[in-house]
Amino acid sequence: MNKNFKSGFVTVVGRPNVGKSTLVNSFVGNKVSIISPKAQTTRNRIQGIYTTDNEQIIFIDTPGIHKPKHKLGEFMNNESIKTLTDCDLILLVIDGNMEYGSGDEYVINLLNKLALSNMLNTSVYLVVNKIDLVKDKNKLAENVLSFTSHYNFEEVYYISALNNDNLDKLLAGIIKKLDFGPMYYPKDQISDHPESFVISEIIREKVLTLTHEEVPHSVGVVVEKMETDFDNPNLVNINACIIVERGSQKKIIIGSKGSMIKEIGTLARKDIVMLLGRKVFLDIWVKVEENWRDRQSQLKELGYFNEE
Ligand code: GDP
Ligand code: MG
Repeated sequence: MNKNFKSGFVTVVGRPNVGKSTLVNSFVGNKVSIISPKAQTTRNRIQGIYTTDNEQIIFIDTPGIHKPKHKLGEFMNNESIKTLTDCDLILLVIDGNMEYGSGDEYVINLLNKLALSNMLNTSVYLVVNKIDLVKDKNKLAENVLSFTSHYNFEEVYYISALNNDNLDKLLAGIIKKLDFGPMYYPKDQISDHPESFVISEIIREKVLTLTHEEVPHSVGVVVEKMETDFDNPNLVNINACIIVERGSQKKIIIGSKGSMIKEIGTLARKDIVMLLGRKVFLDIWVKVEENWRDRQSQLKELGYFNEE
């Protein structure tokens, strides 16, 4: 037991698509939360865990705080607020190439509100991401100023999560804020989600990426079976179900003569093999459930609510 061991929880907030998942994955060095070029693909609180001999950082990748539109949105906001008030450090990630917008204002207002009502004693760092894409440094400075003038950030970092630029500096800044504490998770653990959840998120990522804008983000994936093969201990048999709201979406996901679902399966299987380090037989089918987003029981079944 290392008496000088430090640990803590770091919440990552920011608008969709600014690079929160990429950042967490860069630190953790593994594919934990899903990344997609589209907005708002991360729905659950997904943690990446960074562990060395001296410290452990548990990253909480929030679903992006935004105004709720339906029940799923309300849930995401509640979860996000809980993670904000309940951690050691908050990273507000922004895209340095984007101007301060209403989505940022919503987050900043929330932070200010929590701080004013003494619910937030946590330091907030501004993490300016995607500096590899910056063309106009004056514009960058302007964008950053519009953030720093609205909230009292303890520190500001300029990074590229994709290219690993300045991540070492940010990491040092994070470690600085950790207290002495226990190792919450075993060293080899990178996510607190069961593998089946990570697998469903991998499949969902493939659906969203391959179908472009035609299938909404409300698509759900449930891993219904995951078992080691009876005859071959090195083979895992997985049955997964993709849930959509309309027959037309089911058609798109299946594709002509099953070409789309086949591609989804092929790409997902590759990632799952990497994740599990075993051979994988993946069987995916598609099911239509009207308005499943607003059905809480179903959300619960899919794991979007914490079992209290
Ligand atoms: P999130 O919604 O905030 O979690 O954003 P993601 O991590 O899913 O990233 C959204 C998109 O931005 C993906 O296509 C990433 O590859 C891309 N991205 C993330 N970080 C960087 C970066 O530093 N530079 C560039 N050029 N792209 C990035
Ligand atoms: Mg994300």
